[in-house]
Amino acid sequence: MSGLNTLTIADARDKLRSKEISAVELTEACNAAVAGSDALKAYSVKTPEMALEQAKAADARLGQGDAPDLCGIPLGIKDLFCTKGVESQAASNILAGFKPEYESTVTTKLWDSGAVMLGKLNMDEFAMGSSNETSAYGAAVNPWRRQGSDAALTPGGSSGGSAAAVSGDLCLAATGTDTGGSIRQPAAFTGIVGVKPTYGRVSRWGIIAFASSLDQAGPMTKTVRDSAIFLNAIAGHDAKDSTSADMAVPDFEAALTGDIRGRKIGLPKEYRLDGMPAEIEKLWADGADMLRDAGAEIVDVSLPHTKYALPAYYVLAPAEASSNLARYDGVRYGHRAKLQKGEGIHEMYARTRAEGFGPEVQRRVMIGAYVLSAGFYDAYYRRAQRVRTLIKKDFEDVYASGVDAILTPATPSAAFGLGEMADADPVKMYLNDVFTVTVNLAGLPGVSVPTGLDSQGLPLGLQLIGKPWEEADMLNTAYALEQSAGFVSKADKWW
Ligand code: GLN
Repeated sequence: MSGLNTLTIADARDKLRSKEISAVELTEACNAAVAGSDALKAYSVKTPEMALEQAKAADARLGQGDAPDLCGIPLGIKDLFCTKGVESQAASNILAGFKPEYESTVTTKLWDSGAVMLGKLNMDEFAMGSSNETSAYGAAVNPWRRQGSDAALTPGGSSGGSAAAVSGDLCLAATGTDTGGSIRQPAAFTGIVGVKPTYGRVSRWGIIAFASSLDQAGPMTKTVRDSAIFLNAIAGHDAKDSTSADMAVPDFEAALTGDIRGRKIGLPKEYRLDGMPAEIEKLWADGADMLRDAGAEIVDVSLPHTKYALPAYYVLAPAEASSNLARYDGVRYGHRAKLQKGEGIHEMYARTRAEGFGPEVQRRVMIGAYVLSAGFYDAYYRRAQRVRTLIKKDFEDVYASGVDAILTPATPSAAFGLGEMADADPVKMYLNDVFTVTVNLAGLPGVSVPTGLDSQGLPLGLQLIGKPWEEADMLNTAYALEQSAGFVSKADKWW
């Protein structure tokens, strides 16, 4: 049966349970879609045989009658997740050929639920970037194109391979990670749903670290319902991650009633940026109208420290990255530089890191080492930490005033062309995260929902920011928005 790769998780689950389709048939359809998708460069590693083995086991389990929701569902896994015996390189040359001896907690939970792994997905190197162009594999390509143009567009980053794969039906859903927007921005650029859970909701164990106080894994899916199902499978306390929270995990799918009457939704005035494209303004206003029509109360709110978020993030994230990436020294994993005669261990470290890390990662390591150095620690790192506290407090004040969720644009623009920013100041790329980084700094949950197309026919998304641990309520509001927006467009298949 063809076309099965276009199913949502929810539909596939029902068809698998009713035996209308088998997990093997579904996996074969996805394997075929993946095999024919090289032009999208979404996958860095394909694992079709492993997928079929897992699918057979899933069919056996489905036959017994009480299979979990994800049993037999084919997924793509971001290359940042360690998968036992399968290359896990964080799209970096420094981890060339690295095959972990262990499985991340998130992927362990997925395989325990009977899910099927189609392969590993492209991303920005060590999740640093907003366009997938820092990947050592070369950039993944957005399935969407501007009307009347065949210019290749970015799927966003850093989870660009995940976004391209879900949007192009090269899997039913994928894992992503989000340190400053890397789930939500690529979701918005490709017309899919992406959820960044509350910090601590999902275990980080076995996920290659970028900035540990900000990193959080989450689902990238075709619908809000699929994200709810997926989040239920991966959430929960993990003794192996001391920052994972020992909190009950509600049934996120059951919370999707679509009833948001009486909910108070805030529109933060500081997100109305100078020079914001009129299309984004309109998308945002339309989204607010949809929620109002569904019975929510729309109120203006203020998050006064918003303008300091991006600078604070680009001090804190590199600081943590420079420390996390110190372990890549050529001794323990991956690449080791060849030495010239007379060179010793110091040359080995330096040469390995110079050869193994790409330019953006080197930039971050240098910025991080600088802001943490004795003379500059107070001026940069400590000050950025203080700003972070103020940003968190801005949200606490808004939520304390009775607001249930905050609605903002997900990105300041639609997907841009690959290579378009090649000569731009790196700060221009960093501006992609202007609406998303605040959420990571405050540890909050956020979701990006596709709600419209721009004048060139490209998808645009809105972001909902929830209260801590209130993903269920946030997803229900996202569900109501999804129902009203009725976004069903797909990219025309050209690959
Ligand atoms: N684009 C941001 C950065 O480059 C965020 C990346 C992410 O969320 N992993 O740091």
